[in-house]
Amino acid sequence: MRQVAFIYGPRFKEYDLGPSHPMRPARVERTYELIRACHLLEGENVLFSSPPVAEESRIALIHSPEYMEAVRSPDEGRPMPTPAEFGFGTSDNPIIRGMYDASALVAGASIQAADLVADGKVSAAFNPAGGLHHAHRARAAGFCVFNDVAIAIAHLRERCGDGVKIAYVDIDAHHGDGVQEAFYDCRDVLTISVHEWGRYLFPGTGYPEDLGEGEGEGFSVNLPLAPYTTDEVYLWAFREAVIPLLEAFEPDFVVSQLGADTHFRDPLTHMNLTTHGFAAVVDEIAARAPRWIATGGGGYDLTVVPRAWTLAFARMAEVEPPELIPESQAHLYRSSNDPPRLHDDEAPAVSEKKISAARHFAEEMVGELRGRVFPYHGLSAGE
Ligand SMILES: [Zn+2]
Repeated sequence: MRQVAFIYGPRFKEYDLGPSHPMRPARVERTYELIRACHLLEGENVLFSSPPVAEESRIALIHSPEYMEAVRSPDEGRPMPTPAEFGFGTSDNPIIRGMYDASALVAGASIQAADLVADGKVSAAFNPAGGLHHAHRARAAGFCVFNDVAIAIAHLRERCGDGVKIAYVDIDAHHGDGVQEAFYDCRDVLTISVHEWGRYLFPGTGYPEDLGEGEGEGFSVNLPLAPYTTDEVYLWAFREAVIPLLEAFEPDFVVSQLGADTHFRDPLTHMNLTTHGFAAVVDEIAARAPRWIATGGGGYDLTVVPRAWTLAFARMAEVEPPELIPESQAHLYRSSNDPPRLHDDEAPAVSEKKISAARHFAEEMVGELRGRVFPYHGLSAGE
């Protein structure tokens, strides 16, 4: 069994963007409660760790001083200067009190995950509150204030020195634009984002031709997939395009954003994965991540996200989770008289025509990546 850390603190719930906001703190709280109820924190190979708030110098690795100051202003009772310029005051990113500390805690948790792995205390660490991949250097976006994943990668680069190679694998339904942007000209960080096609989904970016610039050319990888993409189509594309690149890069660390909003029940997206497909993708990453930092991310159906992340954590810890949801949590997941299961027991109803269109699109995008990106990594475009 693998040595693994679970990073959690009750103060994660302070990352609360309001009662009608889809980014509900219960997503993370219920994940913790379900993982605990499944006895996954009791193994001798599991380290439970409470996160500290990230120091300013860590946040400044990615964010500008002006932006950090703006994020802090409401906490100090001052109005934020030019909120629109910093991406605030929208329904996605409202201005809330306590925003700086709540965001710095999420970043602190991802840094702690990175440190535990880099120190060799564990070989994998999971921060379910992390994965705020849309935050830019000086702008909040898509529910994200501080980009904890980019901060953790920058922190690892600083502490491990030049030449350390980090692969970032983002399976959230939305493009991991903030992380890509932070390392766009860098060849030591390979960013890979698999997401729903930007034509239909926020933030509208992430195409195969966006492959990095300067020294980083060929080290930003984008695999868009069509609405209605199923487990089978997703896994095929992931194995054909992502795995060869990940293996060719030979990273020292893998940082993965495990957003669960590709699920067919997710209210914000149009993908059609089940927990079986999600867990199989996590397995593909696990097999290639001897040193692994994983975070949560998107996922907005409260009956799905805790199950998906519990399954992911069980895979990280290399233990078999129970088939049924423990009685103490069952009421949160029950949709019929049957005892609720950890895995989905139903699949989405999708017409063969839509599946075939999604498959065709995936084949096209995999072909694009083979032609545009594979040659940078010594892989043949025809493989
Ligand atoms: Zn998302």
